[in-house]
Amino acid sequence: MTSHPQIPTPAHTQADSMLSRQFGRETVNYFSSSPLNRLSFLRTEHSFLSAAIRHPSARFVLLKDLAPLTKSPSELYYAQYNEVQKLVPETVYDKSEEETIKEYDSRKTAAQLIFLGLDESRKQDGLAWKIYTGAPFFALDVTPKGNEEQQTNAKDVINAMGERGLSFFQARVVMTFSADEAAIYAQARALMDWNNRNSFCGTCGHPTLSVNAGTKRTCPPTDAARIAGGKPAERPACNTRTTLSNLSFPRTDPTIIVAVLSTDAKRVLLGRSKRYPPNWYSTLAGFIEPAESVEDAVRREVWEEAGVTLSRVIIHSSQPWPYPANLMIGAVAQVSDPAHETINLSHDPELEDAKWFDVEEVQEALRVGISALGEGPGPEYKEGGLRLPPPTAIANQLIRAAINIDLLAEDKASKM
Ligand SMILES: [Zn+2]
Repeated sequence: MTSHPQIPTPAHTQADSMLSRQFGRETVNYFSSSPLNRLSFLRTEHSFLSAAIRHPSARFVLLKDLAPLTKSPSELYYAQYNEVQKLVPETVYDKSEEETIKEYDSRKTAAQLIFLGLDESRKQDGLAWKIYTGAPFFALDVTPKGNEEQQTNAKDVINAMGERGLSFFQARVVMTFSADEAAIYAQARALMDWNNRNSFCGTCGHPTLSVNAGTKRTCPPTDAARIAGGKPAERPACNTRTTLSNLSFPRTDPTIIVAVLSTDAKRVLLGRSKRYPPNWYSTLAGFIEPAESVEDAVRREVWEEAGVTLSRVIIHSSQPWPYPANLMIGAVAQVSDPAHETINLSHDPELEDAKWFDVEEVQEALRVGISALGEGPGPEYKEGGLRLPPPTAIANQLIRAAINIDLLAEDKASKM
């Protein structure tokens, strides 16, 4: 196990238990293991949310076109309430969710606000609510959009932040934050992206309303804006209102990612796509399809992309991937017959190449050849050598697990 500073190290991974002795320590991946307690059951309690936004310990993660506001590329900036007040009126949670839906008016737009949870490590100066104490964390969309007033307020907030030397970190994939900040950012980004993509009802096409502190959206039955247009406030019937589940929920798309071992466990199957830099390989991955188990999807993807037939598949660990809504379910798998190891790239032309690498070569690459996709390898790397993803990618953790002989040791396997 690596001691990379970006890999989360929650206390439970150090605790001794029968399961940890049998199966080894839990692997915790980057973007997971948030320090915030989400307290999902408080999301409809507007008196709590109202107290939370105004509490001196409250902090806001600001996103503009999903780019996070940062002090530097490795550090988020957490705004205080007075810095975002223009976009988050004190009265935002004054009315109950029921009343808010009843009074819905599509002309009145508001910056998307999401309650992320309480940082319970801050008990001293935190908000105390019933038995829960901590600093409330929110995500706020400061992208200039919505009605004119909202746009002006958003620009004011953005300009004020710019004047203080802060900037929105634009990158396709941000993987430079500490473990804690990465998890907070992942939650903020994934939920903000989902809200942005679902501003209209998927069933009737009318605008939706954010509810549950930004974690659900509803299709309100009435819209006061219709009265101004000479129509009744009632909107056309929508199927989402005729059933009990009259809400839309954030999406999580499960994908599999797998490190594959040869029959003799002396080689690892890796593949590369055209967009990778030279000599850069990674584990195989793909979406889980409807009515597929994780193990089915692993076997299908590896056969489709590389022509290799797998036997045993074990689920190893998982990684939330907020670009935009994936949950990568990591597995280690093995081929049981050398005849099944033959690589065939002609089924699905997704990969440019797939190859079996000797464990020694992989070990060397883990030592000298790891880097993020856009960066160069370490100083000891020799040109032409294998390059692999960094520890913040679950692919790296899976490759490490696959070549960890202890995991596959005869005595351990027989106990399972
Ligand atoms: Zn609808």
